[in-house]
Amino acid sequence: MVNLCTLDQENGCKKAKEVARNFFREKNGDSQFTIHAMGHAHIDTAWLWPYAETVRKCARTWSTVIQLMDKYPDLTFVCSQAQQFAWVKENYPALYQKIKAKAAEGRFIPVGGTWVEMDGNVPAFWLPDTFGYSAQLPQIMNGVGIRRFLTIKISWSLVNKFPHTTFWWQGLDGTRSLSHFPPADNYGTKIDMKSVMKTRQGHKDKGRTNDAIMLYGYSDGGEDQRKLRTLQNTETMLERIERLHDTDGLPKITNSTPDLFFQKVEENDLENLCTWVGELYLEMHQGTLTSQAKIKLWNRRLEIALQTVEKVYSMLAVLNLKGSSYPCDILDKSWKNVLLNQFHDVLPGSSTQEVVKDACSIYEQVNADITPLLQAGLASLSSGAWNRKRKVQTQNTGLKSSVVIFNPHCWKRSEVISIPGKMFEQLQNHSQDQNGIQHDKKGNILVYVEAQSLGVTPLSIGKMVDHGKGEELKQWTKFDDGNVILENENLKAVIDKCGRIRSLIHKKSGLDAFLDDTKKGFHGNQFLLYDDIPMFWDAWDIMDYHLETRQPLTKIIEEPEKYESGILRQSIKFKLEISSKSSVEQEISLDRGDTVLRFHTTRLHMKFKFGHLKRPTHSNTSWDWAKYEVTGHKWADMSQHNWGVSLLNDCKYGHSTEHNIMRLSLGVFVITQNPTIGVVSIMVVCDHPKPTIGVGVHQLTIFPHSGMSVITQNPTIGVVSISDVFVITKTPLLVWLSTQWYVCDHPKPNYWCGCPHSGMSDHPKPNHWCGCPHSGTFQDAGVIQAAYDLNNPLTVSAGQLNEALSMFTVDNPAIILETVKLPEDTADQNSGVVLVLRLYEAFGSHAQGTLSTPFPVITVARCNLLEEEESQMTHKDHSFHIKLTPFQVVSFLVEFKK
Ligand SMILES: [Zn+2]
Repeated sequence: MVNLCTLDQENGCKKAKEVARNFFREKNGDSQFTIHAMGHAHIDTAWLWPYAETVRKCARTWSTVIQLMDKYPDLTFVCSQAQQFAWVKENYPALYQKIKAKAAEGRFIPVGGTWVEMDGNVPAFWLPDTFGYSAQLPQIMNGVGIRRFLTIKISWSLVNKFPHTTFWWQGLDGTRSLSHFPPADNYGTKIDMKSVMKTRQGHKDKGRTNDAIMLYGYSDGGEDQRKLRTLQNTETMLERIERLHDTDGLPKITNSTPDLFFQKVEENDLENLCTWVGELYLEMHQGTLTSQAKIKLWNRRLEIALQTVEKVYSMLAVLNLKGSSYPCDILDKSWKNVLLNQFHDVLPGSSTQEVVKDACSIYEQVNADITPLLQAGLASLSSGAWNRKRKVQTQNTGLKSSVVIFNPHCWKRSEVISIPGKMFEQLQNHSQDQNGIQHDKKGNILVYVEAQSLGVTPLSIGKMVDHGKGEELKQWTKFDDGNVILENENLKAVIDKCGRIRSLIHKKSGLDAFLDDTKKGFHGNQFLLYDDIPMFWDAWDIMDYHLETRQPLTKIIEEPEKYESGILRQSIKFKLEISSKSSVEQEISLDRGDTVLRFHTTRLHMKFKFGHLKRPTHSNTSWDWAKYEVTGHKWADMSQHNWGVSLLNDCKYGHSTEHNIMRLSLGVFVITQNPTIGVVSIMVVCDHPKPTIGVGVHQLTIFPHSGMSVITQNPTIGVVSISDVFVITKTPLLVWLSTQWYVCDHPKPNYWCGCPHSGMSDHPKPNHWCGCPHSGTFQDAGVIQAAYDLNNPLTVSAGQLNEALSMFTVDNPAIILETVKLPEDTADQNSGVVLVLRLYEAFGSHAQGTLSTPFPVITVARCNLLEEEESQMTHKDHSFHIKLTPFQVVSFLVEFKK
């Protein structure tokens, strides 16, 4: 009204008065707050019961709903999770038909858009009970045509109250989703007066919008047995809706649907709404980023392996090789099984051991299905049969090789790999010159290889020899004063008796990443123990106060000794005591030409998809300090202008950074029957003796690389256990173990980045992490590519190939080709072979580039994430141009000649 007043003496307040008149003319009831009531039964796909029980829970709950619908014609019911519908369709076909009929009436309403209500940090939409939401979800939702979002979980945050209930949620790339948090903070109210009043009072955007959703009903097939949960009881809720429909002094309650609610907001209130930018962080359950490490390891491995199978068979489809048809059925089944385990109590590790067992056997089956498939596909590619069949632009190495390397990434890679001894013996000329190779302790042969982007490269013995005969390295490993020095062309690391990094010099810049600050007791690669006694749920939570119980591991069982020793790899091994029964054993290695220092924690005797987020390293506000443990996928980086530290991993998700400390949580373990938990984490610490701005021109990337296995068994509970660990802590309950990095001698960065991303190899390997000093920004230093390479190593197969074949190359490192696959609907692949290519911008900048392929391209079209064509693109015979905005994800349908 104030904005409508002008200085015009006569008419200055005319418009404002009109608005005021209309406002006060409204009778009671006309503008009354409206509650959109929807029946809902939050059925956890697995939690305190296995998957098999959920099938029955769905049938029981939904048949009750159908009966109630017959009696109450206004009843509406919202139901998510396609997997649950698939189970009922298969096991209870008659019930399924009834559900279909009610769905046709618009009363049994499918919501969600995802296979299960998955975890929202590690892989959205209708996710009332997920423990945090990645900043990339708005873009992904939009890509599949979903523009509305609902959750209640953020209301569980311990420290800060989220300021909105109906608002725009803006993601990393700028995409916005209309979002609603039902103000009763509950997905199973009982239409009681408290919830009704809370829905009105707790609606934080009152004034901007006058509607809210209230979900009512019994969750998980009945909830607490002590509560009345009969048919009649749900009927009481329905009767209450009837009574409260229009009562003076109370908000109106109406049987409604998500569509009616969101449409009303869209029609009336969109311009009034506030915007929240970035992730929706849940200030609780941070332990779920680490709990049940095995499940998280399997998830990472299998997501990557399935993508690799898709890439290999896409290549074979374009090459049109007989006997190599695209394995649609196995891929479909395997993806659905991996997705099933992404349910929000399975992947986060918050379900019972029975569910964990179920989940692992599902993973093992997926692995058993796709491993031979991948091997067969790689054998076909390596056979060179395509070579004789069709002419493509290849890079002839002039050598016929019986060992073929497959690179799944769209960039060239040069690195030391290991080849089984027998396979190496089959190489032509292998015995003539062995100068360029190294025999490792496991009987494998280490060779230095250069692999073409996304494709196959014959192993060239000539190149290996050249590399081996190159510049002579000085002594790699030296023992000096109790310290060990590992040194190659790029790095010099000083490691003490406890395996801690005292110094890591980046030779190009001459700068040391670590400061030997013994006074504070901080060192790089420091293993630490923490007590861990959460206030609420053991398997879900870790509290900030655990950080006050830090205990470094310094008792040496075995001092560092030389392990691998040759021209390509040098490494040392050492062993530390955790308790009288437990120990940790680690190998630190440095490869020739490597810019990373690798950590393989071989024995522990006890243990955003797409894009990145910038986070503060300080805790100025309560919002900052509540994030003492956050999600990250393949890497995290702490940088200043042109120098920083990156921490890469191949199966971990829980990160934290405060001031100069970066920590990666490695594992949560059940250690007693109570159950209690231990978390193992690695920390990277940066000291900052000087103020922030303008100091320092060096950059450090840490790629700690470690394999861990738990070996202390507790037969009484049948799970891997670290039960004796608490013996050395004061409290006999929960324990954290960390390794810590103390990285110094450069100014304190105020921000760090984490990568929300998900992505297997043929079997889960031990965990790895590595560290590496680099100059320039983490983007230019290749941290993102290095993280991909750590997660999906080069594969070797036997074959007969004399030409390298690179399927795709992208000429801009900011553009990453994430997925290559056949469309889900392959029915009309008549004229040519159509592939779906999904790429994204990874650096956070505008990027342009050219994607090239040796295969003749017929058509290129942009499509959405559902693979529906949107627009045709111009292209050349073997390439097309791509233009991306920061963190944008794009998909193309590319047709090749058959
Ligand atoms: Zn749940």
